[in-house]
Amino acid sequence: MPEKSSSNVDIFGLLSVDKDEAKKKQRKELLAASGVKEFFEEGKISIDKRTCWGLECKLCIKACPTNALYWKTGEVGIVEDLCVYCGACVLCCMVDDCIEVERKREDGNAEHFSKPKEVVKLQDKINAKKRFQRVNDVFPTCEAYCERYKHE
Ligand code: SF4
Ligand code: SF4
Repeated sequence: MPEKSSSNVDIFGLLSVDKDEAKKKQRKELLAASGVKEFFEEGKISIDKRTCWGLECKLCIKACPTNALYWKTGEVGIVEDLCVYCGACVLCCMVDDCIEVERKREDGNAEHFSKPKEVVKLQDKINAKKRFQRVNDVFPTCEAYCERYKHE
C-alpha cells in the first residue's frame, strides 16, 4: 500500500490566493483603463440604505471620480472593483455616517471615515505631512546639509 504524504497541502487555500491575485490584477486593469494612477489596494465601502436620501440626492454618484457609484433601481449601487477609497463621496454626502470607507495604506496604517469633517481632517493631516516633507527637502538637517556639500 502506498505511503500517505505527511505534508498537508491546503488546496483550497492556494486556490483562494490565486483568485485574490486574479481579482487584484483585474481591478488594476479596470482602474488603469479609467485613467486612475494612484489608488488604495485595500479597502471597504458601504452605504447605509436606511439613512441615504437616494433619488432626491445622488450627490455621491456625481462626485465619484471612477464611476464606482451608480443608480440602481431605487438605491445607490457600488462597483467595489472601481472604488479607489478616495473619500470624495463621503465628503459630499449630507448625511453623517451614511457612507463608510475603510482603507489601508501601503505601510499598513488603516484609515476610517464616515463624515465630511473626518475626510477634511484626514486630508489636512496628509497635506501637512507633505508640506513638512517639502520643507525638509529644501532645508535639510545640519548632517544632511554637510553630507550633501562635503565634496564641494
Ligand atoms: S471612495 Fe472615491 S472612488 Fe470610492 S465610491 Fe467614493 S468617491 Fe468613488
Ligand atoms: S450623497 Fe449620501 S445621501 Fe446622497 S445619495 Fe449618496 S449616500 Fe445617499
